[in-house]
Amino acid sequence: MAYKTVNPYTNEVEHEYEQSSNQEVEQALANGYRLYQQWRAGDGLAERKAIITKLGQLLRERRTELAEVMTRDMGKLIGEAEGEVDLCASFCDYYVEKADEFLAPEPIYTPSGNAYVLKQASGIIMAVEPWNFPFYQIARVFIPNFLVGNPMILKDASNCPTSAKVFADLVSEAGAPDGSLTNLFVSYDQVGDIIADKRVQGVCLTGSERGGQSVATEAARNLKKNTMELGGNDAFLVMPDADIDKLEEVIPSARLYNAGQVCTSSKRFIVPDNLYDEFLARAKKVFANVKMGDPLDRSTTLAPMNSKRAKEKLQKQVDTAIENGATVYYGNEPVDLPGQFFMPTILTDITKDNPIFDQELFGPVMVVYKYHNLDEAIELANDSSYGLGNTIFGEDVKKAREVAAKIEAGMSWINAGWASLPELPFGGVKHSGYGRELAKQGMMSFVNEHLVYEAE
Ligand code: NAP
Repeated sequence: MAYKTVNPYTNEVEHEYEQSSNQEVEQALANGYRLYQQWRAGDGLAERKAIITKLGQLLRERRTELAEVMTRDMGKLIGEAEGEVDLCASFCDYYVEKADEFLAPEPIYTPSGNAYVLKQASGIIMAVEPWNFPFYQIARVFIPNFLVGNPMILKDASNCPTSAKVFADLVSEAGAPDGSLTNLFVSYDQVGDIIADKRVQGVCLTGSERGGQSVATEAARNLKKNTMELGGNDAFLVMPDADIDKLEEVIPSARLYNAGQVCTSSKRFIVPDNLYDEFLARAKKVFANVKMGDPLDRSTTLAPMNSKRAKEKLQKQVDTAIENGATVYYGNEPVDLPGQFFMPTILTDITKDNPIFDQELFGPVMVVYKYHNLDEAIELANDSSYGLGNTIFGEDVKKAREVAAKIEAGMSWINAGWASLPELPFGGVKHSGYGRELAKQGMMSFVNEHLVYEAE
C-alpha cells in the first residue's frame, strides 16, 4: 500500500512514506500497552487533561500552517481546513471540561448493598480513519480515548499520510508519552494482525461500507468491540412552507462543503411540487456561481475532489445514473483545470430502479426528487440502505420536528444543513454504521463500565 500525498490541485507527489515494519507495529503495541497498564488504575487524568489543553493551544497557534497540510493532502479549501483545526481545538476544550464528570464512578441504588460503576480504560484502540476530514476524524476519537486512558494506534487513509503524521507529531509535542497515539503506515493485513492482538480491545472505523465490512469482520472474528461510522445518502426534506430565500443560503454548505465529500452532506433533496421548479432554479444559480481553483486561494469556493480515483468513481456513477434515465438539469461537463475538479451537477428523474437510487454520490452532485404529499416524502427519505443524517427545512418547526422523528437516521437537523459539534453525538443506523462518536456517548464507546458490588 503506497502512502502518498498527491496534491489534487497540482497532481504533484509531495510526500511518500515507507510502509511501517512489523517491528514498528510491535513497538506501538508494547508502548501502548505499558501506558494502558499505568492509566487503567485511574491515575494520570490530571496530566492527560493538561496535555489535551496544550494540544488545543498548539492547534490554535498553528491554525493556518496545519490547515495547509490538509489542503495539500486532499484538496479542501484553506478556509474550511482552518475551520476544521478550530473544531478540533474545541474538542480539546469540551473534553477537558467534561472528563471528570463523564468518568466519575456512577452509584447504583440497590436495596441489597452498595454498588457503583467505575469508568475504566479497556486497552489499546485500533483507529482506521478516512481522508475527508483528516484532523477532525483523528481528533474525535483520539481526544476522548486519551482522557479515558485508552492508547490508540492509527491507520489513516493512504492519501492523507502527511496530515496523520503531523497530527500525531503535534500530540507528542503537547507532551503525550510514546504510545499514546502511534500513527502507522500499515497494510490491511497488518491492520488485521493489530486487531487480533490481545493488547487491543477496541476498533473504530470511519469510512465506506466496504471498508467497514472488512474491518468489522476482523473485529468480530477476534471478539473486539467496535464502532462503525460509515457512508450516508442523507435526505434534505423541504417542507411545503419552506422559505426559498433561506433555502438558497443553505444549499452551498449542505451540498458543496468539502467539495461535497462529507458523509452527512445532503445528497437527496426531496422537494414539494409547489417549490420544485423554483428550488431547481435557485440550486442551479448557486452551482453556477462557484469559483473552482487553487484551494489555497481564499477566493476559491469549490475545491478539487480528493483524488483522481474519487473523481473517476463519481463520473462513473453519474454516467450510470444517466444511462438509466436520470436527467442532467445542470452540470456534468468537463472542467478545464488540471486538478481533480468535478463540475457541480444536478440530477433529476432518478427512479427506484436506477442503480444510483441507493448509492452514495460522494462529491458535488445533487439529486432532486419531487413529492406531492408529506407521507410520500418521508417514505422516500427512508427508502435507503443508509441512515446517517437528514435535514428538515420549513417554517413550521413543530411540524418539522414531527417529520424528523419519523426518519430512520442517527441525526436530524431542522432548518440547518449538517453540523458537527463536540457536544452533539454523531453516528448513524442501518448501513451508516453503529456506535456514536463525540459527546458523552463517544467518550463511553471504549470505557469498561466496571461494576463493583459490596454486600451488606
Ligand atoms: P474507505 O475506502 O473505507 O477508507 C477509509 C479508511 O479505511 C482508510 O484508512 C482506508 O485505508 C481504510 N480501509 C479500507 N478498507 C480497509 C480494509 N479492508 N482493512 C483495513 N483498512 C481499510 O472510505 P473512503 O471512501 O476513503 O471514505 C469515504 C467514506 O467515508 C464515505 O462513504 C463517507 O460517507 C464515509 N464517512 C463517514 C463518516 C461518518 O462519521 N459516518 C465520516 C466521514 C466519512 P486506505 O486509504 O489505505 O484504503
